[in-house]
Amino acid sequence: MELKGIFWVFSFLFGLCVGSFINVVAWRWPRGQSIIYPSSHCPKCKAKISWFDNIPLLSYLLLRGKCRSCGEKISLRYPVIELISGLLSVLAYWCFGISIWYLIYYGFLSALFTASIIDLEHRLIPDEISIGGAILGVGIAFLPSHILTPLETFFGAVVGFLLIFIIAQLYYLFTKREGMGMGDAKLLGMIGAFLGWRALGGIVFLGSLLGIIIGSVAIIAQGKGRFFKIPFGPFLSFSALIYIPVWCGKVKLPFSHFFSYLLGL
Ligand SMILES: [Zn+2]
Repeated sequence: MELKGIFWVFSFLFGLCVGSFINVVAWRWPRGQSIIYPSSHCPKCKAKISWFDNIPLLSYLLLRGKCRSCGEKISLRYPVIELISGLLSVLAYWCFGISIWYLIYYGFLSALFTASIIDLEHRLIPDEISIGGAILGVGIAFLPSHILTPLETFFGAVVGFLLIFIIAQLYYLFTKREGMGMGDAKLLGMIGAFLGWRALGGIVFLGSLLGIIIGSVAIIAQGKGRFFKIPFGPFLSFSALIYIPVWCGKVKLPFSHFFSYLLGL
């Protein structure tokens, strides 16, 4: 195998390991538990999980999804999260190659992924991810060779936040119901900080479209009312993910003029 091929495999394996960590963070953080202590254990029999039973993806397959000591079923969320994280890493490598930007944008995608899992489960997005991410996103624009200028990322953060903040205020004014939360506004601020303000129009457009389609299906399937709260974070995150390969010129969209205009490319 040529050298470049090895890096595809490395980026996938690295993503699997980061996925293991995302599992811990996404489960423990919103529950107010420490991320470092105690080490992984079976929730049923409390048996400590040794390193060889804690290898991402592989251990789940070898154990056939059961705890080694008590046979309790291990949730499918663990291998699925690891696998998605591995694929996100490969996506970042595909877009940025071996560079600091691979690490930065894979970190960005991992943060969006973690926020999305927590949002889906708890309907909240931790400020440490969204606000912390927004500050980091603006900060990295000062690195030499960044595609974006500090002004573009700063405007991205501000415009991203205000866009949803204003829509949410208007929605509340007219319906007296909370549609989107401040968590979504802060998350879009973070997205704007990493991708620049030009990215926001297309991301909000695609995110809303997905939110309406998938949200409607979910509401019909679950038989909940029209005002059942849909987490918007995962849709915004997914749109940001779609934007990255287009931004990097890896994917050409059909109707490119229309989408280029919309995405500000
Ligand atoms: Zn057990």
